[in-house]
Amino acid sequence: MSKILTNLSYLDPARPAPWSSFLEQIDRVAPHLGNLARWIETLKHPKRVLVVDVPIVRDDGSVAHFEGYRVQHNLSRGPGKGGVRFHPDVSLNEVMALAGWMTVKNAALGLPFGGAKGGVRIDPRTLSRGELERVTRRYTSEIGIVIGPDKDIPAPDVGSDQQIMAWMMDTYSVNVGHTASGVVTGKPVALGGSLGRQEATGRGVFIAAREAGVRSGIAVQGARVAVQGFGNVGSIAARIFAEHGARVVAIQDVGGSFFNPAGIDVPAAMAHTATQGSLAGFAGAGAIGADEFWRTECEFLVPAALEGQLTVPRAESLRTRIVVEGANGPTLPAADDVLRERGILLVPDVLANAGGVTVSYFEWVQDFSSFFWSEDEINARLETIMVKAFTAIWTLSAERQVSLRTAAFIIACQRVLAAREQRGLYP
Ligand code: NAD
Repeated sequence: MSKILTNLSYLDPARPAPWSSFLEQIDRVAPHLGNLARWIETLKHPKRVLVVDVPIVRDDGSVAHFEGYRVQHNLSRGPGKGGVRFHPDVSLNEVMALAGWMTVKNAALGLPFGGAKGGVRIDPRTLSRGELERVTRRYTSEIGIVIGPDKDIPAPDVGSDQQIMAWMMDTYSVNVGHTASGVVTGKPVALGGSLGRQEATGRGVFIAAREAGVRSGIAVQGARVAVQGFGNVGSIAARIFAEHGARVVAIQDVGGSFFNPAGIDVPAAMAHTATQGSLAGFAGAGAIGADEFWRTECEFLVPAALEGQLTVPRAESLRTRIVVEGANGPTLPAADDVLRERGILLVPDVLANAGGVTVSYFEWVQDFSSFFWSEDEINARLETIMVKAFTAIWTLSAERQVSLRTAAFIIACQRVLAAREQRGLYP
């Protein structure tokens, strides 16, 4: 089935398909799984794929149809968990890959979730607030048959935010007849959201970078950092790096690429994107070419935009010591090999950007118990879980002489496939 979906759904054959990258990563881990490898096909087939039509009446009275998806890649270890993407390039292929990475990420961190992801192929910037609300509510109703606090719990991703989560929670709650806070995470704090959730992914990226630096003799203090993608993940990671004495020398988003060897004033860049929508016109650094960005001399490079950004030619031209994947799937498998040959350490997405889903887990737990924790407690628990996962993955990588990505996949796939085996097949 997955082959058919892959072939039919991937609209632009010129771009490498994210699901192919995911399948290749699974193939790479198979030889390390011992007897559990007999279950490996489980991971190559999403458990459940839902494609929905999302019609709305536009502000001008016309009717528009958008395509939406919710993919539950694997539910062996618990309910589905993963974000919802609103972006014009969203495809079923992409959502399948993103759901697969969520399965691996949740298992690698030891969170009691399976992997899921959703998306709607829209450009949210071209919709009015009312249109965006109607898309969100209709999409939520359509996927309402598969989501729920103990079934599958969406969260924000590219193009979605706290407000979208509030509308999703309200729509689902109205449909089931009672307030169901735990159906989504990443909600506003007033609606049962968690303190620290909005910053959690960027904070986790920083923790992962710091741990990789400590083990590689590279201190964050005084390090040069380049960040691609200046949204929720990239901008917060950049800000926390700067707060810890690093120099953020290059940033890039859809509006352009910017370089300042003295260090970019990150809060000023964030204030610019908040009012202007992107970095275009940012005066706090010099504009550089998009390719030049990838050649920035730095200690830490954080791709935090979309998948498939680190291609082989870019990997060959990097001048960094450590790549920390804030985005999901930013590095193509062939580029992984180039980085390894060049001695550039890569901290994989399934570890580096897991801070978001970890605090989403805390939010879900808090909603169930209706007892809310302080931000200090949340950040301390995030630190504990991230460092524990990092240490286990680092140790296995050294023992088996494999990349951190393969080590993370080994730990995760062992957990998922052991659960599969213990549960057995029905009937
Ligand atoms: P966002 O929408 O807040 O920001 C995306 C950023 O990427 C924007 O700055 C945008 O301008 C930039 N961008 C998009 N296309 C680009 C391109 N071609 N070149 C350069 N920049 C480009 O999204 P986000 O929530 O920050 O997510 C970014 C990545 O992190 C995604 O891969 C997402 O799946 C992943 N992620 C997000 C979370 C989360 O909690 N939000 C958690 C884990 C992983």
